Amino acid sequence: MERLPFSLPDMEPGQVWLVGAGPGDPGLLSLLALQALRQADVVVYDALVDPRVLDLANPAAVREYAGKRGGKPSARQPDISERLIALARLGRRVLRLKGGDPFVFGRGAEEALALVEAGITFRVVPGITSGIGGLAYAGIPATSRETNSAIAFVTGHDASGDVPDSLDWHSLAKAVPVLVFYMALKHLDRIAGQLIAAGRSPDEPVAVVSRASTPAQKVITATLGEIAAVARREAIEPPALVVVGKVVDLRPRLAWLPEDPAV
Ligand code: SAH
Repeated sequence: MERLPFSLPDMEPGQVWLVGAGPGDPGLLSLLALQALRQADVVVYDALVDPRVLDLANPAAVREYAGKRGGKPSARQPDISERLIALARLGRRVLRLKGGDPFVFGRGAEEALALVEAGITFRVVPGITSGIGGLAYAGIPATSRETNSAIAFVTGHDASGDVPDSLDWHSLAKAVPVLVFYMALKHLDRIAGQLIAAGRSPDEPVAVVSRASTPAQKVITATLGEIAAVARREAIEPPALVVVGKVVDLRPRLAWLPEDPAV
């Protein structure tokens, strides 16, 4: 890395760094993430990691894919944790690279706990979560003084793949003016229905931001009542974020990405 006026920690052999790769655009990596890409012996990465980020890895590093491949089921979580532990015990400098932030709906905590149990030293390098960075690339601020003094990040998917029923939809709908759903595309119909049943207006603005901060970024907006049909009609593809709330109304003025048709 070019000289910096301060020093970054080095990856040590036998250490695991749990690193967030951000939503896509490699320009959103942290300096520590770049340091890890340059120094790691092995990079264990997920499906959501942008190929442009992976290309920054040291050419000598071994790359191991830990996500879904060719329709095969994804590597089981305990298998991934065991693999990280085994690599660390071999004295490798291990970069565990995840999309967005490793501790936001990324199972980073599970992996970190497994490392703790195994006595492996690790570092967590936060990344820009898609629910913030991806929205920003669509010209949608997470908060603004005029629209919301709170925001919630919600998963549209529980461990069984269904809409989480542990969610208190009524409290969420009532208390939180802006809701950002991850993993929600598949169940968008039901999620919108739950929110309306819990008291949100069917006229409320919603955006779906697909493949945020990548060359394939696509954004649609519609009302809560219509968003699921519009997403289907426009063939919106995952990964995508669903944003419910008045912040969405700022997009026509705040869209800034040169390739965005709204600019
Ligand atoms: N740890 C990740 C989230 C992993 S869960 C983070 O902090 O961003 C996977 C979900 O993240 C996807 O279903 C989608 O909702 C969201 N996501 C991740 N990257 C995205 C992107 N580039 N564009 C839109 N949504 C994205």
